[in-house]
Amino acid sequence: MPDRLLKQEALFLSTLQAGRTERRLALAVVALSVLLFAIMAPQARTQLQAFWAFIPAYESALIVTDLVTAALLLNQFLSLRSRSLFVLAAAYLFTAQMTVVHALTFPGLFAPTGLLGAGPQTTAWLYMFWHGGFPLFVCAYALLKRQDKIADPRQSAMHRIWPQTLALLAVLAVPVLLLSLLATRWIALLPAIMEGNRYTPAMILVVGAVWCFSMVALVLLWLSRPHSVLDLWLMVVMVAWLIDIALSAVLNQGRFDLGFYAGRVYGLLASSFVLLVLLVESGLLYRQLVQFAGALQRITLLDSLTGVANRRAFDAGLMTEWRRCLRSGHPLSLLMVDIDHFKDYNDRHGHQAGDDCLRSVAQGLQASLQRGSDMLARYGGEEFAVLLPEADADTARRMGERLRAQVAQLATGLQSSREGRAVSVSVGVATLVPTAMPVAQTLEEQLACLIRQADQALYSAKDQGRDRVVQAPLLQSSQ
Ligand code: GH3
Ligand code: MG
Ligand code: MG
Repeated sequence: MPDRLLKQEALFLSTLQAGRTERRLALAVVALSVLLFAIMAPQARTQLQAFWAFIPAYESALIVTDLVTAALLLNQFLSLRSRSLFVLAAAYLFTAQMTVVHALTFPGLFAPTGLLGAGPQTTAWLYMFWHGGFPLFVCAYALLKRQDKIADPRQSAMHRIWPQTLALLAVLAVPVLLLSLLATRWIALLPAIMEGNRYTPAMILVVGAVWCFSMVALVLLWLSRPHSVLDLWLMVVMVAWLIDIALSAVLNQGRFDLGFYAGRVYGLLASSFVLLVLLVESGLLYRQLVQFAGALQRITLLDSLTGVANRRAFDAGLMTEWRRCLRSGHPLSLLMVDIDHFKDYNDRHGHQAGDDCLRSVAQGLQASLQRGSDMLARYGGEEFAVLLPEADADTARRMGERLRAQVAQLATGLQSSREGRAVSVSVGVATLVPTAMPVAQTLEEQLACLIRQADQALYSAKDQGRDRVVQAPLLQSSQ
């Protein structure tokens, strides 16, 4: 059984401790990002063509990835009840909302000067609020993480995500609205940071502060050891975020130069890292869940000693097959197969040899079944039940003989048999015909009748000297 599923702390990205492989991968991504940054930084001011379609394409991608990441994080929050995860989900929802406002106000995108009464300073300031706000949320996440009490997800109630998401969106809309108003209607309160498509000197101060927030978030994440896989990738995000700001607001000189485009690509990558890792992690978890379900099925439906169906599976199979036979009008046969003198066998050869014998008999019986719908189950102890759907009394009797002969043949191969009495089985056979059932009987009563008849036939086989097949008399029609 996949034991990772049994440890709740290993089930989530936010609680799973980062291993060496994850650290190396994260480090490789950071190294590559820094290298690309070093190559692009000197050319950041190279003016490129203004591709207006780039902005809506980039911002739409950003909104979608941020929303999906927030939803996945909220899902983890619902299981773990961790406040830090809630704040992180809020961070992603905040950036998604800020991106929407940024796109609406961007000059030349939806209206020549932008929507919502945007002025020339609006998008630049919104960019600063958005890029300064996210790291502040990450700082809160890192600080809260230290005192977080994580609930056991196996005990947590199944909450739905949408009410919480909508509530969070509504609460976050307040600061987003205030910041949007500050960047549009109350813009006179803020210094000018854009002049046409170029930055003013005041920009350096503002962007410096925003850059510092990301730096502080990175340091706080670093200090919040031990690092979970989520922390690790958040640190990578913050590095990409620092590069984004450096390229698109410090080293470049205005819109549509190399730094402007490259910075935004970094921003998009930064917003995708956590999402990608969350998706990879869920894929892994699903695969483990499938294995776990398989293991669970084996435990609940198979007999651990012999590997054939257990009593639970037999009871369910009996009910299903009888219902099917009632619909189709076909008979259903049941064979009770009991190993003879098995107590003596155990006493003579020991329980271990007894277990081996049970396994061999089960395998032999299983190999003798002819149709896919035939079912062998360990009914209890040294007794097996064989269910033969759509088999009439003659077919069932022949199958009983076949099973008995199979065990007799098998017995010659069992070493312990040679030292004493040969292993044999007695078989009781009973058949139900749907048309012959009393109308007033319930399904359960009919099945109890079938089992009773097969049992009685088995007792007769024992009484008559064992190692034989006895068939119960066919039920007569009740009319
Ligand atoms: P009969 O021919 O009348 O069926 O006699 P019997 O000895 O087979 O029947 P009885 O009911 O007296 O004894 C059944 C024995 O089966 C006793 C028990 O120790 C043994 N047995 C039941 N389950 C297992 C098992 O899982 N492993 C082993 N080794 N023995 C088992
Ligand atoms: Mg027995
Ligand atoms: Mg028995």
